Amino acid sequence: MAVIRDRGERATLPPFGDEHEQLRETISRWVETEIVPHVDEWEAARQFPRSLYRRAGELGFLGLKYPESLGGQGGDYIHDAVWAEELAAAGASGGVGAGLGAHTGIATPPVFRFGTSDQHERFLRPAIRGERIGALGITEPGAGSDVASIRTEARRVERGYVVNGQKTFITNGVRADFLVCATKTTPDGGHHGISFLILEREMPGYEVARKLEKMGWHSSDTAELAFTDVEVPEENLLGPENGGFYLIMANFQWERLLMALGTVGAMRRLLEVAVAYAGEREAFGRPIGRFQAIRHKIAEIAVRGEVARALTYSALRAFVAPEARRREAIAQGDLTHPSVTAGTREVTMAKLHSQRACVEVADEVVQILGGYGYMREYGVERALRDARLGPIGGGTDEVMKEILGRRLGI
Ligand SMILES: Cc1cc2nc3c(=O)[nH]c(=O)nc-3n(C[C@H](O)[C@H](O)[C@H](O)COP(=O)(O)OP(=O)(O)OC[C@H]3O[C@@H](n4cnc5c(N)ncnc54)[C@H](O)[C@@H]3O)c2cc1C
Repeated sequence: MAVIRDRGERATLPPFGDEHEQLRETISRWVETEIVPHVDEWEAARQFPRSLYRRAGELGFLGLKYPESLGGQGGDYIHDAVWAEELAAAGASGGVGAGLGAHTGIATPPVFRFGTSDQHERFLRPAIRGERIGALGITEPGAGSDVASIRTEARRVERGYVVNGQKTFITNGVRADFLVCATKTTPDGGHHGISFLILEREMPGYEVARKLEKMGWHSSDTAELAFTDVEVPEENLLGPENGGFYLIMANFQWERLLMALGTVGAMRRLLEVAVAYAGEREAFGRPIGRFQAIRHKIAEIAVRGEVARALTYSALRAFVAPEARRREAIAQGDLTHPSVTAGTREVTMAKLHSQRACVEVADEVVQILGGYGYMREYGVERALRDARLGPIGGGTDEVMKEILGRRLGI
């Protein structure tokens, strides 16, 4: 019987088209030539160089979804989705993906969507060039999943706010030039007492309290931040006062999609590594891929990757469909409009499924590589450590299940 070999070529699935596939190749080539050769060194140094933002900015990757009038490439969320997937697929390491991704994926989008033209000029334009690095600060030592219980306080004073509090686990927190920061402007206001302020690194009282050591994502920096009487002018209020919860919800959808896309890329790479290794490594006189146990494992890995990909692309389609209406609603200040959080169900499912699948796939690939899988040089032990953040960050698995359960009316 003739065997038709699957060389791993993938059908282009919507919402992607030829233009996106070309971008895929460009990003992939860049990652392979300018990032991958340095990843081990950057992981050991516990950070990648700041100049990488500038370089990515020069190449247009930091502004793919932003209008040309702001220095972007005039693309949309689908172009940015390619960026998220290919950074992971081409082996940039979770840390590099997280550092660049936090800047493009979670810190700058709220500035674009909710910012004033003055904020676009001061923060977004230099961020697109890679000159000013952004971070998003929501999590606090005492408040992670339970966002409404954050305690960082922004007290109203004449012409602005005075901020006191702490943030933790902040990606890019050590070197961020600006922090899109969730604060409490109405202490007993619950969800409706949260406002976003853009804090700037040079503001007196803004301090990087600690650089945190982590299980994975080693080449990204993660910080604990402390604010003592930081004076923030009112022109740094992002979005409406006490309307921050909607901003968080709108931002979460994109963050979760990016995480799902990252694991789609990571699983594609893990499959390639497993297939190549199983074809080369011999045991008991034959390539290990000829043992049914290994062949079946690899078949399952391929299916899991494809399921995650289909679910994630479906969520991406649901997310982007009402973008025009979403922009209109935000421009009118109508943050409760359904378009603002459209796609929540699909995005939640994609995030939940893909993050756990990636941990399990990475673990299986370590197993296929045997002792070599446990060694640094093949990069799969790093993939496993990096993947473990997925079911925690951007909303835990348990929180995803709560969201889905409630939407099902239970
Ligand atoms: C490497 C890293 C980078 C990060 N980057 C950022 C960043 O850039 N900006 C930022 O703001 N945050 C960031 N985070 C924070 C991340 O989003 C939080 O860790 C996450 O939301 C979970 O919050 P928590 O760690 O406080 O856990 P908790 O909320 O304390 O949860 C602890 C456990 O309780 C469970 N639990 C909580 N509530 C419920 C519930 N209602 N039902 C069932 N179980 C529940 C959780 O699922 C979890 O298993 C980062 C975290 C890490 C580890």
